Amino acid sequence: MGDRDTIPPGPSRGSLSLEETAELWRHYQEGKLSSCPRDAGPLALSVDGGNCYRFVCTWCGTATIWFEANGSGVHFRTMPPPPPLPEEE
Ligand SMILES: [Zn+2]
Repeated sequence: MGDRDTIPPGPSRGSLSLEETAELWRHYQEGKLSSCPRDAGPLALSVDGGNCYRFVCTWCGTATIWFEANGSGVHFRTMPPPPPLPEEE
């Protein structure tokens, strides 16, 4: 299977709103693949730790914020940004 992580490295401008994210997630759960609201590009789903998700457009890099999903819906992960990596000297 070959992992093709072709998420463009460019700046991801214009994060999607919680509403948009919730809708994408709903579609995802229904088995429909959603496309980017901006340019209809294909969305990749990133998973972090098993219960945090993020949709990223593989064309333009538009992305949702990391969110947690459960049976009742989605909510954005409210965590402080990760601490900087310890400097290696
Ligand atoms: Zn896009």
